[in-house]
Amino acid sequence: MNTISSLPENNQLNDLLVNLKDFLKKEIIPHEQNWLKMPWSEVEKEIRTHRDFLKEIGAWNPYLSKNHGGPGYSLMEVAQISEVLGGSFFGHFACNCQAPDAGNIELLLQYANDEQKEKYLFPLLNGEIRSCFSMTEPDNAGSNPILLNTQAKKENGYYIINGRKWFTSSADGASFAIVMAVTNPDAENPYQRASMLLSPTNAPGFNLVRNIPIMGHAGTGWASHSEIIYDNVKIPESDLIGPENQGFKLAQERLGPGRIHHCMRWIGICERAFDLMCQRAATRKTGLKSFLGEKQMVQEMIADSRAEINAARLMVLNAANKMDTLGQKAAALEISTIKFFVAGILHKVLDRAIQVHGALGVTDDTILALYYREERGARIYDGPDEVHKASLARKILQQYGLKVHND
Ligand SMILES: Cc1cc2nc3c(=O)[nH]c(=O)nc-3n(C[C@H](O)[C@H](O)[C@H](O)COP(=O)(O)OP(=O)(O)OC[C@H]3O[C@@H](n4cnc5c(N)ncnc54)[C@H](O)[C@@H]3O)c2cc1C
Repeated sequence: MNTISSLPENNQLNDLLVNLKDFLKKEIIPHEQNWLKMPWSEVEKEIRTHRDFLKEIGAWNPYLSKNHGGPGYSLMEVAQISEVLGGSFFGHFACNCQAPDAGNIELLLQYANDEQKEKYLFPLLNGEIRSCFSMTEPDNAGSNPILLNTQAKKENGYYIINGRKWFTSSADGASFAIVMAVTNPDAENPYQRASMLLSPTNAPGFNLVRNIPIMGHAGTGWASHSEIIYDNVKIPESDLIGPENQGFKLAQERLGPGRIHHCMRWIGICERAFDLMCQRAATRKTGLKSFLGEKQMVQEMIADSRAEINAARLMVLNAANKMDTLGQKAAALEISTIKFFVAGILHKVLDRAIQVHGALGVTDDTILALYYREERGARIYDGPDEVHKASLARKILQQYGLKVHND
């Protein structure tokens, strides 16, 4: 049902997708419930045992271009891998293409100098270390990225970083953070005030205050979101990424492909939830002979979910195709559209799957509650729904001649 017959044939990709589905089914999904009760450091050890196999089938760093030693798939092809991996909470991590590392890798591939590559990029590509991305601040509206208090002041060949960040995902156990900090507070253009800097997490003054509980679950390691105080963290000038004061430009470039990865991962989650919902509807007896799936309102939930997932997938693949063929800028409208549309479908499908499971749906005995909890943020991170909707509507209305007034 979910195959798209009009996609171009790529036998190498098709084999990979089949192998990955099989791998998740046999080696990952059966352990999920257990792993979700273990500290991340233990889970990571178990997932690592599959690395050789994943490298052998071509699933390691699957988004890398041929230039960078990867398989060279198009974004549209990588999107399909992301959907399959989204079928398990641990899927992307197993293949070293999890957020935020994949986005950080893409950024470093483009902008890191040789020393930074040696120290940060290559160990990331080998899955030896993890990283995090530290931009959002509790005291400022993250939806308007120019509002940043964190400063990096230059002194005798060093940057001294001071500030407070939160929702730095996966900082717990990461080796370094990419920090967005103000380096030129007086720049006339507010988008030219900040830079991206590399800060080791063991640097003096890098204080991980806490893993923030998300609806009661703080998580550990990769599966957590931290609050961090940068208290006079001193890093050499050479750990600036790309040009100084161009942090927003770099962030924008990091986000475009990232939104495709997220959206297709969400579609993978939708498919998993849909599968569980259908299994439950077909097997749960609600009468002496009848089953839940015979109720029309349950059938409606299934039919609506099927239609919406299919529509969402095609929209993401269309955006990926436009990025592949015309570039990120040309696909800006499509990227904004999928970001809020697919996040909305994800929530509808997860909610329906939970509803069909009844009380079981809100327990941790199925994966649904974890997805519901972890992915409520999908409508907030990488730009809240409202920001993307406003941006989309503005772009459309501009085509009708509307100018925005600030009166
Ligand atoms: C699970 C999760 C993981 C995250 N991971 C990271 C990470 O790794 N690194 C990082 O730096 N940050 C991360 N973030 C932070 C995320 O980027 C911010 O939460 C996001 O940018 C929104 O900022 P905010 O939370 O400050 O909300 P605010 O900016 O305070 O906005 C609050 C709400 O106001 C509304 N709103 C905002 N702007 C507008 C507008 N223009 N029009 C209408 N309504 C509007 C929206 O409903 C929005 O949800 C993560 C967040 C979550 C939830």
